[in-house]
Amino acid sequence: MATEAVRLWQDQAVRQIEADATRSSDTHLIRLDLPGEPAITLYLKDESSHPTGSLKHRLARSLFLYALCNGLIGPDTHVIEASSGSTAVSEAYFARLLGLKFIAVVPAGTARPKIDAIRFHGGDIHIVNDPREVCSTAHRLAAETGGHFMDQFTNAERATDWRGNNNIAESMFAQLAAEDHPVPRWIVCGAGTGGTSATIGRFLRYRQHATRLCVADPTDSVFHRHHADPEITEATAPRCSLIEGIGRPRIEPSFMPSVIDRMVAVDDAASIGAMRALSDRLGRRVGGSTGTNLWACATLIEEMVQAGEGGSLVTLLCDGGDRYAASYYDDEWLHVRKIAWQEPAMQITALLNG
Ligand SMILES: *Cc1c(COP(=O)(O)O)cnc(C)c1O
Repeated sequence: MATEAVRLWQDQAVRQIEADATRSSDTHLIRLDLPGEPAITLYLKDESSHPTGSLKHRLARSLFLYALCNGLIGPDTHVIEASSGSTAVSEAYFARLLGLKFIAVVPAGTARPKIDAIRFHGGDIHIVNDPREVCSTAHRLAAETGGHFMDQFTNAERATDWRGNNNIAESMFAQLAAEDHPVPRWIVCGAGTGGTSATIGRFLRYRQHATRLCVADPTDSVFHRHHADPEITEATAPRCSLIEGIGRPRIEPSFMPSVIDRMVAVDDAASIGAMRALSDRLGRRVGGSTGTNLWACATLIEEMVQAGEGGSLVTLLCDGGDRYAASYYDDEWLHVRKIAWQEPAMQITALLNG
């Protein structure tokens, strides 16, 4: 069905995405020595330094390449996503790079800064009143416009080349090469689509590394319950967490429990406390899911200390904190929601500062 002109456009589009990646440099791996635990080193893979500010930049690039190489996007295709967050921001960036129209389907009530960020990168917004209808609306818009629904929750796990191609896991190992502990004891990440954990878990097995994968999950999310008991596929709480980007009320197709060695449930107060403590240590704000990751790291570090083990851990700095100035970084906002973050923040500060 694809005409020669469409095929040539697709070649050109893939070339533009590759050229964009070639102009960009890899994200930093930040080393954090723990003054009280000299045998253990913690590393942060800083995904906030992507051009669109989060780890979703990798996902968006992969989803566009996947759609292009499957012949699903042409020069006149409207690209549509169901996302109120970082995925839509990053996809808007790549759609603009390719000169394509991008529409984010978002639930009513989506915070203003997020809508502004999607628009800033050239995306359009389609608001639906019932949050349960975001996906069906995206499907319908795609059908009506002859467009393509990217469908992050379905395609995240298959769009990324888990064997290598400088995926996030391969990049971490390359950056650890000259460290004292180049093969970490643990890699810790969160799960929203589940794409990041699927890529890391598969890569660890493929390369036969001794590293184990831990996923940090909000307390009310269904992911860790499902990991413990596959029969459980729906959460009991309707809203699963205040932490954006991670935790889901139902199991999504891209979540791959079989490659996850361990899951740690983290409540919102611990996530926010860890986020605040880390921001103080780094001198810049990080996002909430980075706090969730760090809290799980603290749990694992304590176990390593108890067992007399040394080694390294790697986790993700998923996004920066500026977008959360009016929420996680607003004491009044937290107080109204009864989030007791101060005590967990003190515990993490003690770990980071000795
Ligand atoms: C999406 C997201 C995650 C989780 O990554 P997945 O690969 O989708 O599982 C974590 N933190 C933030 C801020 C995110 O946007």
